[in-house]
Amino acid sequence: MHLVFVGAHPDDETYTSGTIARHIAGGGKATLIIATRGGKGHWKIPSAELVKIRTKEMEAAAKTLGAGLVWLDYEDASVPAGDELRETLVDVYRKLKPDIVITFHPLVWRDDHRRVGLTASDATLKASLPLHETAYPYHRPEPEVYFFGEPMAAITPNAYVDVTMQMDVKHRTFLCHVSQWASWEIDGSVNPDHAEKVWERFRARFAANGAVCGVAYAEAFIGREKTRRAPWLLPTA
Ligand SMILES: [Zn+2]
Repeated sequence: MHLVFVGAHPDDETYTSGTIARHIAGGGKATLIIATRGGKGHWKIPSAELVKIRTKEMEAAAKTLGAGLVWLDYEDASVPAGDELRETLVDVYRKLKPDIVITFHPLVWRDDHRRVGLTASDATLKASLPLHETAYPYHRPEPEVYFFGEPMAAITPNAYVDVTMQMDVKHRTFLCHVSQWASWEIDGSVNPDHAEKVWERFRARFAANGAVCGVAYAEAFIGREKTRRAPWLLPTA
């Protein structure tokens, strides 16, 4: 099975890297589609330099996970809404032929994330329509879609993945994005302890997810499909 993750920025995969690692460990294939190179994600580092840094960080993270990487090369904080991004993703899906798509919930905070989440979901249907002709043949069946993130509405996760065995690779993947954790200080100073403090917040979040479903660490999703083929989902009541 081919799992395709669709995110807006390098480091967005941090929220779901355990599931991606687990999918690969089970013999599956995974590809990360990242819409921008994160050129506005710092207070101090100039954009052109930051793009180079974050490209390398994302490449290292994908390599750590054992996943493929596809850049869409939109501008950070300016991911296009609607048709342009959807048509781009239609052709990406037709090339990659995903069975599972993981992306942001369309109601999360931050417009880049919302736009990616909504169009990544919409494009699964459009890529499957034979009469919607592009340079690539249609892709059926439509992949299952799992959303992550914290929607700006009371929506409870309904799909969990036990990532207890993946916490080490998840931590190592997180540390690849050092520009985002180690030097995110308004005064430009570098705090060497900062990354581990951020990680501790993440770890607590995944431990809290685990407590919901009786495992040590879990990632939580909102699943659109009733029929689920993903082999790593915990059974739900
Ligand atoms: Zn992001």
